[in-house]
Formats: sequence, C-alpha cells, structure tokens
Amino acid sequence: MLHMPDNLKKSWVMAGHHFTLMVTLMNTLLFNGALYAYVASHLDLLTMGGLMIAASIAAIVFTFNLCFISLLVIISPALVKLLFVITSLINAVALYYMLSYQVTLDITMISNIFNTRTSESVELLTPTLFIYAILLAVIPSALMLKIKVKPRKRLHIIINAVIALIVTMVFLYANASSWLWLDKHAKILGGKVLPWSYIVNTIRYYKQQSKNDKPATLLPAGKFTSEQKIAVVLIIGETARAHNFSLYGYARETNPLLKTDDILVMNKTTACTTYTTGSVACMLSHDVQQSGYEPLPSYLHRMGAKVVWRSNNWGEPPVDVSKYQIGGDLLAQCHGEDCQFDGVLLTGIEDEITSSDKHKVLIVLHTKGSHGPSYYSRYPESFEKFTPVCRHEELSQCTTQELVNAYDNTILYTDYFLHQAISRLQQLHMPVMLVYASDHGESLGEEGLYLHGTPFMFAPAYQKEVPFIIWRSKELIKLQGISNADVQQIGEFSHAHIFHTILGALGMQSPIYNKELDILHSKKLR
Ligand SMILES: [Zn+2]
Repeated sequence: MLHMPDNLKKSWVMAGHHFTLMVTLMNTLLFNGALYAYVASHLDLLTMGGLMIAASIAAIVFTFNLCFISLLVIISPALVKLLFVITSLINAVALYYMLSYQVTLDITMISNIFNTRTSESVELLTPTLFIYAILLAVIPSALMLKIKVKPRKRLHIIINAVIALIVTMVFLYANASSWLWLDKHAKILGGKVLPWSYIVNTIRYYKQQSKNDKPATLLPAGKFTSEQKIAVVLIIGETARAHNFSLYGYARETNPLLKTDDILVMNKTTACTTYTTGSVACMLSHDVQQSGYEPLPSYLHRMGAKVVWRSNNWGEPPVDVSKYQIGGDLLAQCHGEDCQFDGVLLTGIEDEITSSDKHKVLIVLHTKGSHGPSYYSRYPESFEKFTPVCRHEELSQCTTQELVNAYDNTILYTDYFLHQAISRLQQLHMPVMLVYASDHGESLGEEGLYLHGTPFMFAPAYQKEVPFIIWRSKELIKLQGISNADVQQIGEFSHAHIFHTILGALGMQSPIYNKELDILHSKKLR
C-alpha cells in the first residue's frame, strides 16, 4: 500500500482510499487503549459471547471512524492531516489521564475539566505525559505530514465506507444478544472512545449549558377553585409494558394486589416516545406537541401548591418544586424490606400531605421500575416468584424465558409498590388521587429486539404500550361527581391525558386546561 517513488522523493505517495484506511486504523488502534482495557476487564473473552461483544465494539469504532474520515478525505486530505495533528495531541493527553486515573470522558468529566482552574491543571503535568505525547502524537503526526495523497478516487473511498457500514450492520443485527451488554455499558464505553468522547461531550456540555440558561416559557396563570385540601400522587413508572400486566390481559398473574383495589385501568395507552427523557417531559407537559414550556410540577408550585419530587431515577426536565429528594435522602427514615428498591419513595408520604399548609399537594415519585437489563436487581428476594431468572448482562448466557421471568418479577413488585401506595393514601380519608403510568415499554427479545429506544416509527407495540392506572379515594370520587363506572373507556389514551386529569382533580381553573383530555371530567358538573 505504500509506494516509495523510484526517485526517492522525500514524501511518500499514497492512494486516497489507502490513506483513508490508514488514518482510520491509526485512530482505531492508537488511541483507544482505555476502551479496550475496559472491554477486556469486563468481558470473558474466552467465551463466544464475550468475543462477539468485543468484536461488535471494534467493528462499531472502526466503521464510525472510516465513514467520518472518508467524508473528510473527499473534502480535503490536508484537512484530515491538520485534524489528526490536533486531535492526536489531545488524544495522547486524554489517554494518559484515562489510563492513569481511570477517568471516563463523559459529560460530567468534561464539565469538571471546563471548571478546573489552570493552576490545578499545571500540577498534573508529568514526564510520563510527555512520553505519551511523543509516541502517540509527535511521531505519528510527523509521519502523516510526510505522506502525499494521490488524486483521490472518490468512488473508491465511498464504496469502501459503504461496504464497511453494511458488514457492520449485518454483524450487529446477527448479534442482537450483545446489545444488552452494550446498552448497560454504553455510557462508559462512549466516554472512552477517542476523540469522539471529548468532541461529543463538549458539544453536549455547551448545548446543556445554553438549554439550562434558557428558562422554560411560563404557562398562563390559573387559580384553584376551592380551599379544600386535595392531594395527587403521580407515579412515573420505568420500562413497564402493558403487555406483561395481568390487568391488561397477560396470562401470568402479575397484578395479584392491584386487582383487589378499586382502580381505573385505562384502555390501550400509548407512550409519547420510547425513551425516558422524552417521555417524562411529555407526561408533565400541557401540550405534548410543544416543548420548552413549564412542566406540571413547576406550574402547580408557582400557582401555590406544595410540590414534592422524589426520584430513584433521572432524566426529568428541570423542575422548580417545594422539595426535591432522591431515594438516598429518604433511606434513614425508611423501614421495611424494600427500602433499597422503589419502596423507599413511599417513606412518610402521608406526612408530606397531612403536614402541608397548602391546600393542594402534588407528590411525584419517579421510580426505577423495571429498568433493564439487570431486571433481577429491581425487586426484593421475596418477589422472585417466576423462576429461573436471568442474572447475566450478556443475554447469550440466558434463555428468553429466564429474561421474561426476571422482568415479570419486576412487574410483580411494581404491583405491590402501587398497592402499598394506595393503601397508605386510603388511610388519609380525604380527597386524594394516585396516577400511575410508565414512561415507555420494553422489548424482551421479540423480533430479535431488546430494551427500548427504537425510533418510534419502527418501534413494536411492546415498547410503546404502557400501563396507565388511576385510583381515587371515595372522598375525591364524591367531590368529582363521576364514578369509575361512568368514566368513558372508549378510544385510546396517551401521556397527554396526565396533565389535564391532574389539573381537573385539583380543581384548577386555567386557560390551558383542556377538559377533553381530563379523563375524570364530568359533563354533569362542568
Ligand atoms: Zn425509561
């Protein structure tokens, strides 16, 4: 592939597609030591499953680099050389820190770096760092600059990239079982691929900064129609799919407790998106078609309600509430066998409501639910009713049935968790409503798919259809004047109903209240 010219000119002449491959290989092999070290220490490379996952990662990194570098070579080989000289130096420094301090260049680390004072960074300069710089940046850059790229055959470059892309896609699809491991480790892996980790996360950091700086558009003011004390508990589920709820017709009994409660199980309910951040924003939004508006908790808080946000999860939009707590904040007060699980979120919720000097109270519980792929770690031991369960992150080590068993146990625990919440709210003998909906569903190997996040258009119903359950105290039913039996169960429901149903229950008059989306709107009363 190298052609030393007969007259021994100082520069080496190389065809455009060979140059592209060489830069791709240098990028893939020289700077990803931290990535390969992580993969080697977290996978058993002596097993077929482990090898396949490692091969998938190498294929993704190689193909991604190849496609990007092909594009740049087509634009200008000189540009490729310039970018290589710059990124190789940053890569060398980054790799030194990654291997020496086990850091991952994720968005948190990038924001740390941008917030570090220069004097602190100077203290980190060591002789070893210079050796890294010479071996990984200075020498490869000098070689790179000596190469003269022959007039490019663009078609050749494009064909190579397309072939690599197709081969990688087919390989990944044939190895769908490796997706579980990849998904679980995606955040860390992504933070170790150089130079992409710092390029992508720097962009994300600045995007996040500008988004955080831009306040949400406030909704028009509303007012509560009475001074009666009313509470709503909104429970945001995670990865629970309607298909595995016996309340939605699943053959296994996964809702033994909820079926004894006087609840409304809403008909077919479709999630807004197949991923957490998109769906949670949607569940709290007055208009799911628009973004950038004040979410429900912030709105109610601004209008004078007490709003408590409790989270065992992440990914909600910025909220301005009376009290924000994570599961760990509640541990000390939590008693019971499920304090290490979502149960911790129920700690003292009765007190939060009864002690409130505000007439209206909203408590949001953002659960960890059925988050995969480690379904087995989402419930206390006593909920392991369906066995044997999958205890591996590498799906190739489990049967589909073991995976489904573990998942069904998470639903069984969710059933208990919701039943507990209802039982405790019932004791308050006041108008109170509990709303439970999951953010999105999950694929458990159907059609070769796992987890969630498939683009909505292509996503199977398993990822889109979610449980949507409402419970009201008899005091609230009386106040609202509409019994469960009278609720119109025709048509389909969606996340769009949550905002307006809660506004209605709290008796708020607001220009943005849409009674068509209030499931409990009584035509007799309003
Ligand atoms: Zn989610």
